[in-house]
Amino acid sequence: MPYTPFLLINGNQRYLFDTGFADNGPPTTGKLAAQLDAVGLKPTDINNVVLSHYHGDHINGLRNKAGQLVYPNARVHVPAPEHAFWMDDARMEAAPPGMKGAFMAVRRALGNLGGDQLVKFEPGAVIAPGITSIAAFGHTPGHTLFRMDSEGQSFAYVADITNVPSLFARAPDWSVLFDMNPAMARMSRRRVFDMLVKDKMMAGGFHFPFPAFGTMEVSGTGYQFKPVAT
Ligand SMILES: [Zn+2]
Repeated sequence: MPYTPFLLINGNQRYLFDTGFADNGPPTTGKLAAQLDAVGLKPTDINNVVLSHYHGDHINGLRNKAGQLVYPNARVHVPAPEHAFWMDDARMEAAPPGMKGAFMAVRRALGNLGGDQLVKFEPGAVIAPGITSIAAFGHTPGHTLFRMDSEGQSFAYVADITNVPSLFARAPDWSVLFDMNPAMARMSRRRVFDMLVKDKMMAGGFHFPFPAFGTMEVSGTGYQFKPVAT
């Protein structure tokens, strides 16, 4: 499964959507710094990190293994309901042992951010000029997508609305193990896919096959992801 964070540059504002793992992940991950370097950017050039949800593959890269912030100059924009869910200590206490690690990873990545460094927003809000958040709950309680509109064109970063489009776009009513509320995730998936089709939007998904860009079409009772030509 690939992990592909997205970078949006708008004037002097650089928005990184989700972080991957930095040096905390499996051996074939952790290439983001080199990829930024390839486009002439350093981690200190990132002034906004935008998180879709708090699963480890999306947030662990906020800090390196030593605990330092990888993007020290960035404000970190987070969906308020996602933050509230994972930072609830009572919920962590009540969670089954197998899930406690996920709660602790959230605290490691986000627990000690400075006062104005963490920016909570309500899903649906415009988070910056041209960037609108979209509630797509189900995969996690506050899973949120982002649509970008510019000069008559639109792009949606759809995060984990589906993990493997060749399976779960074709059969949008199937659920992947990681969907915390499968019924809600199914509804969100169909609603978002319908939006991509209707608005003829370019879409990018965190786990889509690299380069993770393409369009969605209706196909039978489901959808088909059409990757951009590379
Ligand atoms: Zn993910």
